[in-house]
Amino acid sequence: MSDQMLAPENTCRQFDIASVREDFPILRQEVNGHPLVYLDNAATTQKPNAVIDEISNYYRSYNSNVHRGAHHLSDKATSHFEAARERISKFVNSPKASQVIWTRGTTEAVNLVASSWGRANISSGDTILVPELEHHSNIVPWQTLAIEKGAQVKPIPVSDIGEIDLAAFDALLDDSVKLVVVNHVSNALGTINPIKEIIERAHSVDAKVLVDGAQAVAHFEVDVQILDCDFYAFSGHKLYGPTGIGVLWGKESLLEAMPPYHFGGEMIESVSFSGTTFNRLPYKFEAGTPDIAGAIGLAAAVDYLCSFDRALVQKHEQDVLTYAIDLLSDISGLKRVGESSNCTGVFSFVITGTHPSDVGMLLDQQGVAVRTGHHCAQPLMERLALPGTVRASFAMYTSRQDIDKLYEALTKVLQFLV
Ligand code: PMP
Repeated sequence: MSDQMLAPENTCRQFDIASVREDFPILRQEVNGHPLVYLDNAATTQKPNAVIDEISNYYRSYNSNVHRGAHHLSDKATSHFEAARERISKFVNSPKASQVIWTRGTTEAVNLVASSWGRANISSGDTILVPELEHHSNIVPWQTLAIEKGAQVKPIPVSDIGEIDLAAFDALLDDSVKLVVVNHVSNALGTINPIKEIIERAHSVDAKVLVDGAQAVAHFEVDVQILDCDFYAFSGHKLYGPTGIGVLWGKESLLEAMPPYHFGGEMIESVSFSGTTFNRLPYKFEAGTPDIAGAIGLAAAVDYLCSFDRALVQKHEQDVLTYAIDLLSDISGLKRVGESSNCTGVFSFVITGTHPSDVGMLLDQQGVAVRTGHHCAQPLMERLALPGTVRASFAMYTSRQDIDKLYEALTKVLQFLV
């Protein structure tokens, strides 16, 4: 069945899946003698020409260090670098660009908050609430902080279909809760969590909320002001941008009050042996030479994604997910893991009598790239009593034909394994 062609709106580019795929050169290759079917987008997305060209152009024509050069190339690099921050600021509807802190990715953004805000605000007896479906990068920094401070990390239970249990969450909310962390979308299951409700309820006991948006920003629009979250973190490489760059967004009053986390050049106002003063936002959190090409590449990725009507991209991705759910449920012994009706981008499954890593290896032999294992969510796997799953994850360029090829490849895998 062919993908529908979605009509343009306003001045947006038409969302035509064939031409979108043309923008991603890596997709035009064979793997193990088969055309590549790339279904590992939750791990990292591929990059469109617009991003590759922008990064290449930076290195070819204006590579220079930012903020401190007294010459043309440095001025140009600085203005592109700061324009990239402005672009990301608009992308998440931040009140100010200075609330956008460049990090290496979601992991570093979470660590920044744990080390800076956490060390200054979490004390003995405090509670940090963490849903069972979090990625390790949004569990381990809080465990480490809790051990250091004599605080407690308490899991928020998740149902059998992979949804956060809001009644159980309510029961855990008391005055000891100082922080709730939650991913916007689960990387292992694709569940879209009800973060607006979670934020409102957390704020009712004066707790702060950090949202891990690593799996959300590529799939739907995020508005940090509407959400009213305190911190929002994401990675560039899951958003069609380069690796090594990500974002921590924070409320200005919180960021202003937070101490620096890394120390060195760029983050200072003045240094002397009698004492050092720190730079203003966002620079006080950006010690050392930043990933200039990464920031510029990420802004190009956001420009690329936003050149389409995002509602149409989302509609296309939902169509692919629904198609996968319908088609793959035909496969004997296949069980979808995470059956919330509110999901995006991920089809996680197990097949009776097979091990996920065997399935993944045999799919790879047919050119189909998926991820297998615990997906850095071991507490979730423990909760669901699974050693791991096979995860097929989708992006804007995933087509129904990709799902057909996954189906065919799985049928062959089963002839071999079962
Ligand atoms: N959170 C979630 C939900 C993720 O999916 C990932 C990446 N798998 C991360 C955090 C960590 O992102 P990064 O490795 O880019 O820092």
